[in-house]
Amino acid sequence: MRIDDKIKQQYLLNMGIDEQVYTFARTVETELKQRFEEIDAIAEYNQLKVTAALQKNRVSAECFQASSGYGYNDLGRDTLEQVYADVFRAEDALVRPQITCGTHALALALMSNLRPGDELLSPVGKPYDTLEEVIGIRPSKGSLAEYGVTYRQVDLFEDGSFDFEKIKKAICEKTKLVTIQRSKGYQTRPTLSVERIEELITFIKGIKPDVICMVDNCYGEFVEEREPVEAGADMVVGSLIKNPGGGLAPVGGYIAGKRKCVENAAYRLTSPGLGKEVGASLGIMQSFYQGLFLAPTVTAGALKGAIFAANIYEKLGFDVIPNAEEKRHDIIQAVTLGTPERLIAFCEGIQRAAPVDSYVTPEPWDMPGYDAKVIMAAGAFVQGSSIELSADGPLKPPYAVYFQGGLTWYHAKLGIIWSLQKLYERDLVDKTRM
Ligand SMILES: *Cc1c(COP(=O)(O)O)cnc(C)c1O
Repeated sequence: MRIDDKIKQQYLLNMGIDEQVYTFARTVETELKQRFEEIDAIAEYNQLKVTAALQKNRVSAECFQASSGYGYNDLGRDTLEQVYADVFRAEDALVRPQITCGTHALALALMSNLRPGDELLSPVGKPYDTLEEVIGIRPSKGSLAEYGVTYRQVDLFEDGSFDFEKIKKAICEKTKLVTIQRSKGYQTRPTLSVERIEELITFIKGIKPDVICMVDNCYGEFVEEREPVEAGADMVVGSLIKNPGGGLAPVGGYIAGKRKCVENAAYRLTSPGLGKEVGASLGIMQSFYQGLFLAPTVTAGALKGAIFAANIYEKLGFDVIPNAEEKRHDIIQAVTLGTPERLIAFCEGIQRAAPVDSYVTPEPWDMPGYDAKVIMAAGAFVQGSSIELSADGPLKPPYAVYFQGGLTWYHAKLGIIWSLQKLYERDLVDKTRM
């Protein structure tokens, strides 16, 4: 038997996928060959970039040793930070397990570089949900607002373009830091390419050269050849349980950029006077290094999954953002499913494909901070990791699901096929389109 037939047999007999579902998915995949080649080329470029940084900094087995207590002279930690600085073309970096998540990394970057009386500006509209409390848009204990840091926001135009006139007006004496979110997150605006970030930063620096431009880089790492520092950003910030952790980092966040910005963040993370000198790595350095090493390939797999999903569901008549042909700038795929039944079926399919907890059924629940029930599918090795195959969406119109991740392309593909299988079984898709 040919390998193609053996694969088909696996899907049909072992996985329980219907032949029509499999054949349709297979046809869609065949049409994506050229796009996948382009993604592979970017992954190869980034693999070389990461490998060169590891080599230049003479990473050795000693770097994987655990430190404890204060963590003075932790060779692995200090070397890793230099590796990150090189990969992101930055002067310095802070990469720590003590940074608990992406929100923490962003809060740290903001709170350490802003002082009472300063103003923060978002020229790209509303930031990620969790940052509303960090900034104090929604009142919260310990927010920037409580410390006397004010906030201004300029929304994007309807079509996603920058409102340069309003941005210019919003920049004033007090403006100290500009925050630019690369990924659309859970909004419907387009994700920003590094090129568009460059255009925006150039404009802002033209008005106020000393303003700090920070990019929330979550979900964007290794999707393009360039990272935002190369586009003029002073700081990039992200989570290690997304792209740069490569699925292996069990925790952590990073801040890379100008030495002064990183230094401020280090003094805030640990303590004034101590900065980067303390912070035991407790034996997880190897996963940080190895995860970074794998990150370009893992990100490529997740991207292929997102494009595959867009093509499958667009053909079935659903609205997808980004659409089937669009160039990608992050790994998130939104599919507007239109009914709660479809949203639930989709998430059940993703869960069914998981390597961990595949036997559980996700249920909508009242998640804190949301005004509708939310359903989430995740069967991950690292809890909440969204570089691993995952999907979620609020149970309210238009019933959009946000899909991301997949540690390998094959697994992302299985997830999408399972999502479709669940819709198919319940007669929730137009089978004549398949
Ligand atoms: C995930 C994400 C965050 C927050 O990261 P957490 O690790 O969930 O705290 C912030 N901004 C964007 C754009 C994100 O995608």
